[in-house]
Amino acid sequence: MILVLFDIDGTLISTDGAGMRAFHRALQETFDIRIENQLIRPDGKTDPLILREILEQNHLDDRLCSDSQQEMFSCYLEFLEDEIAKIMKSGRIQILPGVSTFLKALSSESDFALGLATGNLEGGARIKLKNAGLNGFFHFGGFGSDSEDRTELTRIAILRGMHHASPGVVDGAFVIGDTPFDVMHGRNAGAFTIAVASGGYGIDELRACGPDLVLPDLIPAESIMSFMRTRM
Ligand SMILES: [Mg+2]
Repeated sequence: MILVLFDIDGTLISTDGAGMRAFHRALQETFDIRIENQLIRPDGKTDPLILREILEQNHLDDRLCSDSQQEMFSCYLEFLEDEIAKIMKSGRIQILPGVSTFLKALSSESDFALGLATGNLEGGARIKLKNAGLNGFFHFGGFGSDSEDRTELTRIAILRGMHHASPGVVDGAFVIGDTPFDVMHGRNAGAFTIAVASGGYGIDELRACGPDLVLPDLIPAESIMSFMRTRM
């Protein structure tokens, strides 16, 4: 059995900035800060790490505690529902090229188990995937709500995948993501890595971080699946 752990934003879907708009609204509600020009690049980072970096940038990191983080994230999930509902009205949620076919192909084979390794809070991941119609593909995962550290949440995803698949039958894991962070933390967690240039990073930038495979998109499904099988 091969565990295939997907990043969400830039890898499976694009939500046209809805996540960051919800994040900024929650920052204003909780910490009373208005973000005009965000200097933090969020892709590849976990939600708790993005929060920490934005507060540090605004010299408000002394206000970060478990209570304020909890308040911020519960606001964020409410605003995320709202922001996603807005983009759904104008049809701007986008499933990235090849993704639907690839997920269907993987889930129809008994030697693959599909999970998530994402910096999104689990609640945020599920809101995004539900609205994209992809939630049902993923029965386990590691999330930003499990750890601020992407290596750690990827390890958690692997452990949950082993439990899901029943221990002893897992041969290895692949992480599929769109940023150098997905590659670095996937590798640190002991997974093989596939980088896909469907997010904010180009092929050359992704290749430079040494993934096992670099692709412009998740097409064609059959050759990606046979690549994964040859690595086991
Ligand atoms: Mg991503």
